[in-house]
Amino acid sequence: MRLLRPESVTAERVLIVAPHPDDETLGCGGLAARLARLGRQIHTLFVTDGGASHRNSAQWPRERLAAQRETEARAALLALGLDPDASTFLRLHDAAMPPQGSPAWRAAAATVADLVKWFDPDLVLLPWRRDPHCDHRDSWLLVTEVLQQRRPRPATLEYAIWLDELGAAEDAPRPGEMEIVAFDIGAVAAAKRQAVAAHLSQTTDLIADDPDGFRLTEATIERLNGPVETYLRPCDG
Ligand SMILES: [Zn+2]
Repeated sequence: MRLLRPESVTAERVLIVAPHPDDETLGCGGLAARLARLGRQIHTLFVTDGGASHRNSAQWPRERLAAQRETEARAALLALGLDPDASTFLRLHDAAMPPQGSPAWRAAAATVADLVKWFDPDLVLLPWRRDPHCDHRDSWLLVTEVLQQRRPRPATLEYAIWLDELGAAEDAPRPGEMEIVAFDIGAVAAAKRQAVAAHLSQTTDLIADDPDGFRLTEATIERLNGPVETYLRPCDG
């Protein structure tokens, strides 16, 4: 593992790809906050709306929850020192992204292609390609399809959210596939914690009528809130 200083990242325009609102913070909030403080441009793409995290709540039907999660996402960006308006919400349904190649998939890819053309990122922070959550894998696939058309191809780093907790052996990086790089984010650890806390629906009792609804555990939050943020870099990238 190589421990790098965020200053060593030369990218000027960094695109964050978050499968759900909260991945932007848990996965790459530290590096993004550091790079923003160095004057780099950051844009965040939220792929799904996260509206399925509390399916049994009568008080929070999908539409209301999705709007709440968008509000939380913007508050998290602000806590990280990022511009909440520098964001794009694709609003696909979580755990129900359209099948690859379907008309809805192609429409989403076209929106991503427009964003990539306009923002012209030189670094893209992606979810880990085999993270054990379908939305993370599909988000990787959707954006990677678009990036493959770009010349030159922007650099990519992938962040794993669920691999350590839920991953099977075949989900892990294969020999020679990825290099592990880690960044010292201690200087912005407090901001990252604040940004996690901005996701009220995922971290508090805000939604009280669905005991089986999703909740980020303390263990997960602690695991992803260390002073070092870890990424996987493709060896052929
Ligand atoms: Zn996620």
